[in-house]
Amino acid sequence: MPELPEVETVRQYLLPRIVDRRIVTARFLDHRVLPLMEAAAASQILIGRTIHDITRRGKYLVFWLSAQGMIIVHLRMTGRLFVVDGLGPPAGERCSAWFQLDNGQGLCFQDTRRFGTIYVGDQQLLSEIPGLANLGPDPTSSKWTGSVLHQRIHQRRAPIKSLLLNQTVVAGIGNIYADESLHCAGIHPQRLGLSLDAEECDTLAQCVKDILQSALAYEGTTFRDFRLGYDQTGSFQERLQVYGRTGEECRHCSGSIERISIAGRSSHYCPNCQPS
Ligand SMILES: [Zn+2]
Repeated sequence: MPELPEVETVRQYLLPRIVDRRIVTARFLDHRVLPLMEAAAASQILIGRTIHDITRRGKYLVFWLSAQGMIIVHLRMTGRLFVVDGLGPPAGERCSAWFQLDNGQGLCFQDTRRFGTIYVGDQQLLSEIPGLANLGPDPTSSKWTGSVLHQRIHQRRAPIKSLLLNQTVVAGIGNIYADESLHCAGIHPQRLGLSLDAEECDTLAQCVKDILQSALAYEGTTFRDFRLGYDQTGSFQERLQVYGRTGEECRHCSGSIERISIAGRSSHYCPNCQPS
């Protein structure tokens, strides 16, 4: 599933391609992509609006349009956004939504597993979408510090792995970067939130920041069912320390990477580097 670095990479791919472009038509070819609105109503709102900017909140992409309009996209498991030439979806590409732009190009939203969502409306959307209004701090921002993390988890009985995945604690982290951050900090994924002291929270918050920045520099992690842009792939998967490396040698201590299940999610860790 795309996490913060992958979504940010998509944003940076889109910015030079669609900002200042006007939406000529919008077609929603799979009704499931629009959970809150009929396709015809959404199209009506979008026609003629210019895309002024694209920002990111956690894993959500926010398109700021003229006349207070807004599109919010969540890629979920396999959603992709790419820009191609043409006056309709390209042959052989199945687009769940197609935004025709005024320069003869179009933006395709493609989603093989069809969990991705698009919300259309005005700027009220930011407070209306469940999951967006109560997002925790963005770990790439100055609002993310060890003391903020400590304050958010010091009374929580949940495992730290689950807390890192909880978008109200910190925005944008999924399974890959949670496992990598905990390994970086030397913290066992099953440790309870309340067992982490201030110093450990400082280390973990810094690790989250460093891992995400490094992943961004490599344009994210490419994995099954997910590509960035049209034909672009990230390369951070070559730098993963624990995620997807069950049974392989830890690059720090030569121990063996193990996998356990925590709240239904697989967790990869090194028992030597991350004692319980
Ligand atoms: Zn190790």
